[in-house]
Amino acid sequence: MSKNRFDLDEERLATTDEHGHRVYLHPEDVQGPWKNRRQIVYWFLIGLYLILPWIYIKGKPALLVDIFNREFTFIGFTFYGVDPILFFLIAISSLFFIAFMTSLFGRVWCGWGCPQTVFIQALFMKIETFFEGSPRERRALELAPMSFSKFTKKALKWIVFTIISLHIAHTFIGYFVGPRELFYMTMQNPINHVGMFIATMIISAIFLLDFGWFREQFCIIACPYGRMQSVMMDENSLVIAYDVARGEPRRGTAGVTKEGEGDCINCYNCVKVCPTGIDIRRGTQLECIACTNCIDACDEIMIKIKKPKGLIRYASETEVQGQKRKIITPRSIVYLVIVLFFISSIAVFLNKSSNLQLILMRGKETYVQRGDEITNRFELKINHQGNRNYKLVLESSDKEVDVITPVSPIVINTHEKRSILFFRFKTSALKSGTKKITIQFFDQLTKTYVANKEVVLVGPVL
Ligand code: SF4
Ligand code: SF4
Repeated sequence: MSKNRFDLDEERLATTDEHGHRVYLHPEDVQGPWKNRRQIVYWFLIGLYLILPWIYIKGKPALLVDIFNREFTFIGFTFYGVDPILFFLIAISSLFFIAFMTSLFGRVWCGWGCPQTVFIQALFMKIETFFEGSPRERRALELAPMSFSKFTKKALKWIVFTIISLHIAHTFIGYFVGPRELFYMTMQNPINHVGMFIATMIISAIFLLDFGWFREQFCIIACPYGRMQSVMMDENSLVIAYDVARGEPRRGTAGVTKEGEGDCINCYNCVKVCPTGIDIRRGTQLECIACTNCIDACDEIMIKIKKPKGLIRYASETEVQGQKRKIITPRSIVYLVIVLFFISSIAVFLNKSSNLQLILMRGKETYVQRGDEITNRFELKINHQGNRNYKLVLESSDKEVDVITPVSPIVINTHEKRSILFFRFKTSALKSGTKKITIQFFDQLTKTYVANKEVVLVGPVL
């Protein structure tokens, strides 16, 4: 049996009891420079998240992922007809960028940028403290039988949690439909937009349950990044580390005199403030989200006992063992090369996409013959991803073939345009029933040829 509840069991998580049931954590509040820095970052990120969709550049939100129209807008640049390849390239390069950052700085994302940490630490924990009091009072409230006072505190807390979750979820949806459209929809009867209404309610419920109740359980058992981080890190990665050589043997170790003790006074403050309930003195663990709470908690103790700060600090395993940390390692180089490869692929893809994409689709009838004249009918689909306009005139590379369009020039100022093409020629132009030609697309605005396309025409085999 443990001497106190912070002297954690070696065999099980701090968030489960001996029966496997969840132990709800009430981490102590902490003050210190690392917490102050994180609060600034958190509020900056929350502000950015809430404001970004409302910033309009060139008439469009600064960030808009319009799935329904396959449009992606980022700070004034809109990419139309975005295909899944671009999303795949962005997703995979982001993953490897996170892997690269993890190989250098450990779980810096979890502690400083993950929405889970940001919203819980900056908002939900503060609201909980406001309604239910300090960690000790919250623990007492949890154990107390239901009463009017307990019911009122819990109800008020969950009402505020719900309002905030709804707001976070609406902002999230705003990134996909645009904030003005979302505002317009919310002013109407939900029946008019039932699909969007259900999606928003489901996302709100997920945020509410996760930020309000599930919390550290998500980091410990559900987050795929948390599971994979050990693969991305090595002994040179920056982690929150306890300096074993300096701290041990800790106070109270059997058979150790006061003079022989290390700097750790075994106050458990680093454990009390940990949002995932771990003891960092046992080494780097999967459950550590690098929130820096234990650094501030331990530094406060070190100041009180007049010892140097940094018994728990940002350091690599090699540094804690007294060696020099290699910042650039083969692992980080490999990740960086992969990231650069995918970013280059995105640049190539976007550059290619900014040109006209021309797709020719043959009509239902292979060909129509009138006397010795053959007609092939095609549909021309033009994807236009850039911002400039075109006035296209189509020319055949073969003088024996006429290209006929219902309208000439074809004016392109939208991201997608369709037109009908007819190719007319004499049967004598065919060889073995086919004829290959190239059509050239001449832009009257710039007086240049902007594209060409090969077409195989067909007719009777004579
Ligand atoms: S061990 Fe320290 S840095 Fe890691 S989650 Fe706990 S308090 Fe945060
Ligand atoms: S806060 Fe520092 S001194 Fe206290 S138990 Fe943790 S490592 Fe030891």
